[in-house]
Amino acid sequence: MSEVESNLNSQHKISSHTTESFAWQKSELTALPKNPTCLPQIEKKLIDSSETYKYLIIGGGPAGLQLAYFLNKAGQNYVLLEAGERAGSFFETFPRHKKLISINKVYTGYKEREARLRSDWHSLLCDDNEMFFGQYSRRYFPKAEDYVKYLQDYAEYFELNIHYGARVNNISKTENFTVKTESGKTYFCEYLIVATGVSLPYIPNIPGIELTENYFDCSINPDDYINQRVLILGKGNSSFETANHLSETARAIHVCSPNSVKLAWNTHYVGHLRAVNNEFLDTYQLKGQNAILDAYIQKIEHKNGEFVVHLTFSHAQGQKAILLYDRVIVCTGFRFDDSIFETTCQP
Ligand SMILES: Cc1cc2nc3c(=O)[nH]c(=O)nc-3n(C[C@H](O)[C@H](O)[C@H](O)COP(=O)(O)OP(=O)(O)OC[C@H]3O[C@@H](n4cnc5c(N)ncnc54)[C@H](O)[C@@H]3O)c2cc1C
Repeated sequence: MSEVESNLNSQHKISSHTTESFAWQKSELTALPKNPTCLPQIEKKLIDSSETYKYLIIGGGPAGLQLAYFLNKAGQNYVLLEAGERAGSFFETFPRHKKLISINKVYTGYKEREARLRSDWHSLLCDDNEMFFGQYSRRYFPKAEDYVKYLQDYAEYFELNIHYGARVNNISKTENFTVKTESGKTYFCEYLIVATGVSLPYIPNIPGIELTENYFDCSINPDDYINQRVLILGKGNSSFETANHLSETARAIHVCSPNSVKLAWNTHYVGHLRAVNNEFLDTYQLKGQNAILDAYIQKIEHKNGEFVVHLTFSHAQGQKAILLYDRVIVCTGFRFDDSIFETTCQP
């Protein structure tokens, strides 16, 4: 039996089933001194069908899965709670237009895994040379759905101890952490690792912003935009991904934020506009009806079925303008959701 198999088997015994977790709790119970002040608390946990682990990870994206793999391998007592029904569920929805902008270069000429990983931005670390993302796609910019498949297979293959459909909505701390899920289940743990990514849209404080649509849930059917004038707020990858997607059907697209575009090939920061998303720049520079505006939006109104947008240019001595659009889509980025923490453990 390989080292990995042996680790997997021993881990499986420890933590993959609720009943076995109970067995673990009970052995802790027997090991405890007969202290009347702590016994009722532990008995209460058993009655509530709560579960206790040494390590608890929240979030089954690449970060959470990677840590779960190493805890599993080390034979640790852990659980991972994932809100979705599958691992990697972020990539089921994002990027909205379904093409990843991370690189998957399969044919590198290198045999060594370490060397291959330089141009493989998707594979998680593991001891199994067959479990790499190149087995799922050869595309340089792969489909998001292929990554979801890979992450799910990774979780299953290594028998990671994941509870799906477990959205955490409250975390508090006394000596240890208490973690509650929306479905009413309680977990206790000594070490808590939050790997929930950035799950909330960042909404800029602009009067009238509530009238607009958001990258999170706007239509991704180009036909819904035929002959429309569209304003996209933000100049990151999600804005340009959206603009590219609509450029065949929308009549005119303006992409707007106070600062000028930062190109990733120039700044060497992958969060700036990637070349794979910047087709739209051509439509602007080569005299389409599209434009990139460096401007502050002062307010957005909705009158007679159209959006009236008041803006002040960042250049041109702060010149002001009022522009009309059929749709305004906010693509201003994401932020971490810290609403799950009680004040006892607010990061
Ligand atoms: C629009 C957009 C496009 C992107 N495109 C790419 C790309 O093409 N390629 C790339 O490599 N990276 C891309 N990224 C970056 C990528 O999303 C992150 O680097 C990566 O997902 C981070 O992994 P993670 O495990 O930290 O978080 P995530 O992948 O976001 O995973 C977090 C997990 O936590 C779960 N979760 C959240 N809250 C709770 C809760 N309260 N309880 C239980 N579970 C919870 C979620 O369901 C999710 O499965 C993109 C990011 C954005 C915002």
